[in-house]
Amino acid sequence: MKKALINIDYTNDFVAENGALTCGEPGQQIEDRITAITEDFVKEGAYTVFAIDLHEREDRFHPESKLFPAHNIRNTKGRDLYGKLKALYNQYENEEHVYYMDKTRYSAFTGTDLEIKLKERGINEVHLVGVCSDICVLHTAVDAYNKGYDIVIYQDAIASFNQAGHEWALGHFKDTLGATVIESGGE
Ligand code: ZN
Repeated sequence: MKKALINIDYTNDFVAENGALTCGEPGQQIEDRITAITEDFVKEGAYTVFAIDLHEREDRFHPESKLFPAHNIRNTKGRDLYGKLKALYNQYENEEHVYYMDKTRYSAFTGTDLEIKLKERGINEVHLVGVCSDICVLHTAVDAYNKGYDIVIYQDAIASFNQAGHEWALGHFKDTLGATVIESGGE
């Protein structure tokens, strides 16, 4: 098994108190854990991906424009990584195995070169952390499942503004996508 970490959308807009589409407290509560897991991957030399939502201002063609307030707009603070994860990223951003990529849909695989990057490196197991459990993490996991990757989810390093959606997604990861769901503080 060769593994990669995919960090999804842990930005100010999705996490900070005043974020445009914030998960609020549940998002802020995973800050230490998501940062610690990411640090472990980076230090082990494992492929570490930051898959970060990107939107353009007033993009009337984007389907999310009808669904959500504007968020993660290019060149705004809202799109910066949140808190300690940003500090960690800044420390290691030039490492060859750290890859920051834009995505414009829920899934990190849609319209990106993520699959090519994973295949080049012989990676067959993806570990997912970030937000929101039931939107971008979920859609990325569904794509990973369909593409034949093994999936690992860290229960205490994903979050959503919708607690019921978060709980449902945890069941779906395990029972329908066959993911390994690691409980609090586990490795
Ligand atoms: Zn978006």
